[in-house]
Amino acid sequence: MRIGIIGGGLTGLTAAFDLTRRGYDVILWEAEPRAGGFASGFGDERWEWPLDRFYHHIFQTDRAVLELGGEVGAEAYFPSPSTVIWHEDTMAPFDSPLAALLYPHLNLLEKARVGPAMLYLRLLRRWQPLEAETAEAWLTRTMGERAYQVLWQPLLEGKFGEDYRQVNMAWFWARIHKRSKALGYYEGGFQALADALLQAVRRADGDVRLRAPVRAARPLEDGRWVVETAQDATPCERLIVTAGPQAALRLLPDLPAGYAAQLGALRSLAAMTLVLALDRPLTRGAYWVNLPKSIFPFLALVEHTNYIDRAHYGGDHIVYLGDYLSETHPYYTLDKDELLARYLPYVRRINPAFEPSWIRKSWLFRQSEAQPFTPVGHSQRIPPLRTPCPGLYVANMSQVYPWDRGTNYAVEMGHEVARLAMEDAPTAS
Ligand SMILES: Cc1cc2nc3c(=O)[nH]c(=O)nc-3n(C[C@H](O)[C@H](O)[C@H](O)COP(=O)(O)OP(=O)(O)OC[C@H]3O[C@@H](n4cnc5c(N)ncnc54)[C@H](O)[C@@H]3O)c2cc1C
Repeated sequence: MRIGIIGGGLTGLTAAFDLTRRGYDVILWEAEPRAGGFASGFGDERWEWPLDRFYHHIFQTDRAVLELGGEVGAEAYFPSPSTVIWHEDTMAPFDSPLAALLYPHLNLLEKARVGPAMLYLRLLRRWQPLEAETAEAWLTRTMGERAYQVLWQPLLEGKFGEDYRQVNMAWFWARIHKRSKALGYYEGGFQALADALLQAVRRADGDVRLRAPVRAARPLEDGRWVVETAQDATPCERLIVTAGPQAALRLLPDLPAGYAAQLGALRSLAAMTLVLALDRPLTRGAYWVNLPKSIFPFLALVEHTNYIDRAHYGGDHIVYLGDYLSETHPYYTLDKDELLARYLPYVRRINPAFEPSWIRKSWLFRQSEAQPFTPVGHSQRIPPLRTPCPGLYVANMSQVYPWDRGTNYAVEMGHEVARLAMEDAPTAS
């Protein structure tokens, strides 16, 4: 019984890990030279550790990824860096009950509404009723118009762009419900987690093929699926596709119309990070700075080395300027120097002393289908992992819900899709 997996991100790797351990013959195709997908890293000759292309951390509540990491020898450690909100040229933390109490841009009456509402979201277990309402409506009603404008509207607009008003409250609940002050990271970055999983799959005789982009997968008359690359065509009894919804549609031209329409209707924004290696710090100890898109051309400034020791990066101070945007946005197709020219004046707004000469090196990363869009009633629109085609499973970030996509949920989904494939194919060869 051969099971094919397209995609070596954390969903595909987790499924491969489970299936190889149960004795299935697994082939995994990954287009990139490294495993890890969105969580993969890149290197520099001065660095000891690779750096995530897109900033990553996990929460203490992220049980699935912590457990799997433990099984493959990748243990997370948990510093407690500072997360701040930029408002009217000042930065103040809002990452603990005490920080919220001391937050300077809300008055006591406003805080008296925000605090209990946050506590309610932390304690509430049933998210389902919340998805009938937009986050904007719920937050404005419970916390007040001004608290919404100062704290949450910039976050929603930054994440979802012009359609942010339609995002449902269950998505917002999930962010508050699961968050921990301490944030987990891996020695060697998230690439180390992906590599540890990859090695475990290979040790169990899984065939992981890197630099192996799949062109298409088609059903055969005998019920199997054939996976086509530039080099070969490989038949599989079962096939798991972990590419994003639009990419999966391109890979699977023979999907039934109903399922294809469901998959095609899932919308996402792309992600872009401009990474700077600086010769000195930029902020006074802040790890994560949430920024208003009404003023800044990026959503977050993340000073990674205020979280992780810069000794691992040859002494560089690492800063990400990150954004989510539509692929039609004019900035999405700019090259690195054009983007630097647009972004750097705003870096000076964070630290007026900043000079471009502080930059030793910079990198630009962008990728489509990075932030799924979750409007009201979203749960009813998510296609199931088990497609109507026997033996075919689709499992991608847009099927993670109500949680915001994350490595923990990629691992949960990888376990689940492997379980489904085994349920439909109970005997390993
Ligand atoms: C900006 C940003 C910040 C994030 N921050 C965090 C965070 O702090 N914490 C956290 O836990 N999560 C974070 N995430 C989310 C996390 O990275 C993802 O949820 C997770 O990595 C998704 O894994 P996946 O395997 O489902 O998808 P992917 O990582 O997208 O993996 C899919 C894989 O399929 C491959 N593929 C696609 N098409 C083909 C093809 N035709 N042939 C072969 N291979 C193909 C791709 O190359 C890719 O490797 C962040 C994501 C982004 C974009």
